[in-house]
Amino acid sequence: MKKLLAIFLSLTFLMTVCVAASADAQDETTFGAYKHVYIIGVDGAGTFFENDYMTNFHRIFENGAVKYGARTETKTDSGPNWTSILTGVSYFKHGAENGVVGGEQKRVFKRYPSIFSYVHNAMPETELASINNWGAINIGIVEDDIGVTKISIGPDDATVDAIVNYFNEGHSPALFFTQLDEVDAAGHAHGSASAEYEEAMKAADERIGIIYDCLEEKGLLEDGLFIVTADHGHKETGGHGRFSKIESYSTIAVAGKTVVSGGEMDKDVKLRDVAAISLYALGVESDEWSFTARVPGNLFQDVKGKMRPYYRDIIDLICGEIMWIYTNLGHPFDEYF
Ligand SMILES: [Zn+2]
Repeated sequence: MKKLLAIFLSLTFLMTVCVAASADAQDETTFGAYKHVYIIGVDGAGTFFENDYMTNFHRIFENGAVKYGARTETKTDSGPNWTSILTGVSYFKHGAENGVVGGEQKRVFKRYPSIFSYVHNAMPETELASINNWGAINIGIVEDDIGVTKISIGPDDATVDAIVNYFNEGHSPALFFTQLDEVDAAGHAHGSASAEYEEAMKAADERIGIIYDCLEEKGLLEDGLFIVTADHGHKETGGHGRFSKIESYSTIAVAGKTVVSGGEMDKDVKLRDVAAISLYALGVESDEWSFTARVPGNLFQDVKGKMRPYYRDIIDLICGEIMWIYTNLGHPFDEYF
């Protein structure tokens, strides 16, 4: 009897080890499977990528994974969300407002390492680039002393020209980020229900296509992960910063050789997860205590979806979830606070 029990326990132990080993082996096929990650940020575009007129977007992500219900941070402004996207840290922790990101010290803002820092620390020799229309990102979020090529130039056509020039010079950065600004400007001036906003989205779509085709032509997409996202949406009448669904739902779209074709990702997807997705693709660990981004499921083949380490950020867990329920209830008390 004892012998039988011993054999049974040994078999169970062996099976556990084998399952654990195969899980690891599976993860290894996608962890670090990329040499390049490109993040294209369209300010204020929310989930408007969904529209049929976004022909380049739909062409690029035909075999990609797209999440239209990705959650912004609780404050639906650019400073809070670009900071979270580029650090994997919640707004409740970093506290970055638009003005703070641009250099004005309006309130307590703790600078957390950006994903550029993580990549630089893991691969000190690698090229990194951040080419944006909204110059604040290169002042307040992306570090100065880690060799990132920073260009801040607008309007969006000039931003895209600078990007194409950069790649024409023969650069091949491990991590590349850009932010286009004119959809947000159209949203503020005319609202997201306007013809002007639609025109701005179409122009952004053209620009996404130009950047994508430029990379493809140079063979930089073969080992590249291409991501399109937005920091927040826009009210029909224009503006953002509060809790409505049209402000608080956004997009993460991912294309690459190990991405689940037609994958819609799992439920708990936040914009800050772009940080985790990028580091995971490049094979860089992110064990900072402040880091609460996760790799969603149904995004990379063989990856079930990592748990969000909520225990690291209890305020985000409690306040963020309460506010998310409030958003989905239709934000009934907005006028009172
Ligand atoms: Zn705005």
